[in-house]
Amino acid sequence: MRIQFLGTGASEALPVMYCDCELCQKCRELGGKNIRTRQQTLINDDLLIDFPADTVMHTTVHGLCFSKVHTCLVTHAHEDHLCPTELFSRSGSTLKMVEPTLTFYGSEKVIEQIKNITEKPEKTRMARVQIDEPFQPFTVRGYKVTPLAADHANAYCGPLLYLIEKDGKAYLHGLDTAYFPESTWEYLSKLDIHLDAVALDCTFFNWDHLDKHGVDGCSYGHMGMFCCSQVKERLIEIGVADEKTHVILTHLAHTAASTHDEMQKRADEYGMTVAYDGMVLEI
Ligand SMILES: [Zn+2]
Ligand SMILES: [Zn+2]
Ligand SMILES: [Zn+2]
Repeated sequence: MRIQFLGTGASEALPVMYCDCELCQKCRELGGKNIRTRQQTLINDDLLIDFPADTVMHTTVHGLCFSKVHTCLVTHAHEDHLCPTELFSRSGSTLKMVEPTLTFYGSEKVIEQIKNITEKPEKTRMARVQIDEPFQPFTVRGYKVTPLAADHANAYCGPLLYLIEKDGKAYLHGLDTAYFPESTWEYLSKLDIHLDAVALDCTFFNWDHLDKHGVDGCSYGHMGMFCCSQVKERLIEIGVADEKTHVILTHLAHTAASTHDEMQKRADEYGMTVAYDGMVLEI
């Protein structure tokens, strides 16, 4: 399985277009791994996770063609993961596509966002499948996909994590979320699998606690590096991961306040990898 991290920033991206702070200046100057666009991941050449406004840029910058993409798993309805207006670009009648239909999967909140635009499939060549409950695996073109519960602003964005299995390999897409909810831990602990790779929400890189639930009465629903390291430890503890499992930190926000290399130096202590836009992982 080939996993390509096309966007590894949080909603404001990096550098932030309106910001003249030291970090943003440094990111502009250094470029490369310090340029972070909004969330999107490509599995092999035919399955996408999320569809942000940066999708066109992802194909252009990385020389990709999404003609073979038949499935887009949407994690939740936040703008940095789903930009419905970008979907209009599929309606051109002269387009040549290997896959005639792109099917979007997501919770009710996600489907609400794309309802209008997927209403006329003959025109837009898109379909939609609503996921009503997590923990109900389904298969799509040789992939086994299991939606898992997330802890991320549950009330209005319908968040899901995705466990994706194909050809004996397993990848867990663990964002956006705070420390996984107990229902997800319980489900994972009963599985007889080995995770080859796990991507984790590391929005607030510098947080040194599990999450910020209860602080100012607000649940941010994200993690920092320490929290990600706790997730890694527990995955190993319940037997679905080991030291060979690649643990990737992504969804890095402006508040991370560090360059890629600085963050990687710290992540090395925990045996984790800081993602960057375009990074390819073969498992
Ligand atoms: Zn996000
Ligand atoms: Zn800044
Ligand atoms: Zn979000």
